[in-house]
Amino acid sequence: MDAHSLYLHIPFCQKRCAYCDFNTFAGLENTIPAYVNALCREMRLVAASLPYRLPVHTLFFGGGTPSLLSVEQVATILETAATVFDVSPRAEITLEANPGTVTRETLRGLRRLGVNRLSFGVQSAHPEELAILTRLHDYSDVIRSVQWAREAGFENLNLDLMFGLPGQTLERWQRTLELVLGLRPEHLSLYCLTIEKGTPFFRWSARGLLEIPDDDLAADMYEHAMDRLGEAGFIQYEISNWARPSGEGTWYSCRHNLQYWRGLPYLGMGAGAHGYAGGFRTANVKPVPHYIQRCQLGESQPFPRSPANDEFHPVSVQDEMAEMMMVGLRLTEEGISEEVFQHRFGKNLREVYRNILPALEQQGLIEWAGQNHDHLRLTRRGRLLGNRVFSAFL
Ligand code: SF4
Repeated sequence: MDAHSLYLHIPFCQKRCAYCDFNTFAGLENTIPAYVNALCREMRLVAASLPYRLPVHTLFFGGGTPSLLSVEQVATILETAATVFDVSPRAEITLEANPGTVTRETLRGLRRLGVNRLSFGVQSAHPEELAILTRLHDYSDVIRSVQWAREAGFENLNLDLMFGLPGQTLERWQRTLELVLGLRPEHLSLYCLTIEKGTPFFRWSARGLLEIPDDDLAADMYEHAMDRLGEAGFIQYEISNWARPSGEGTWYSCRHNLQYWRGLPYLGMGAGAHGYAGGFRTANVKPVPHYIQRCQLGESQPFPRSPANDEFHPVSVQDEMAEMMMVGLRLTEEGISEEVFQHRFGKNLREVYRNILPALEQQGLIEWAGQNHDHLRLTRRGRLLGNRVFSAFL
């Protein structure tokens, strides 16, 4: 059985940020102990549906704000995972944290438990931008959190940043990047703000209250990041992700996210979490009380089903191929290997997409790379117009 990845969703935040549409809730912290029990029970029930312990090589605590869990609660979850799954001793274990929700002691405790990668939601170094985003931290919290993480022994830190923010200028974005580079992170994730339906940002924007940079300015910010991070020694290995070298020919790429982009299997545990395993896609119920109740009352079901599933459906080969194109092309360095495609589907990639690829190539959006020209990937222009490329495979 292939090594799987395990995503653990922690849907609690101190406050909802005005732009966020994730499945996360403020003011439910009193349900965290019951939620941790439910998450552990969900792991046990899914694992019990297999006659052997499923190999797991990455774990990712995402949210929400996983750093709202106590060290003891993270320990309980990790111990359960290690009991019911065959967790690799070299597993990458990431925890998302918000600056301002961690202390020197909690970071030390997490590191002792085996958490070996932290991902901090920094977003911006500018107070006005953080205020518009309604974030609770300031940049001094970021500096302190990174310093404490280093003292605790973390050697693999990701910092999340956002561009295309209301009122943001190119100069301000450049300044944020420079400040963040000064913190020497191993990994950077840069996301362009998107206005999601149902958020306060959506309503404010509809009323003309947000001055969003136009597409050209957002593209300039992205291009500046590509150039500047390249100069700083980072490799862009995915549309929104950059990593520093970690040794001879290796990089601090996020192994957990690579599992998604390579179309490999993962289990999604927790309220609203999505999974892809055994040829099925799963999605859990979103409200925290429903999730807890389903896990408390549910029984084990055939793998990879969980009693918390709200959706569960097989993935057709056609959909799997299209999915592989859309997520695989996000990998800006390695792209999609013709050989891997052939091996997985028994079909030739050029043949399957013969009506799509030539037009995208002519528009300068994709290219064949690698020594044998057998890896399909986005060009630099294609990275800027990724959505146009991905929609061609829908
Ligand atoms: S802290 Fe993160 S997950 Fe929570 S509301 Fe803000 S953006 Fe969303």
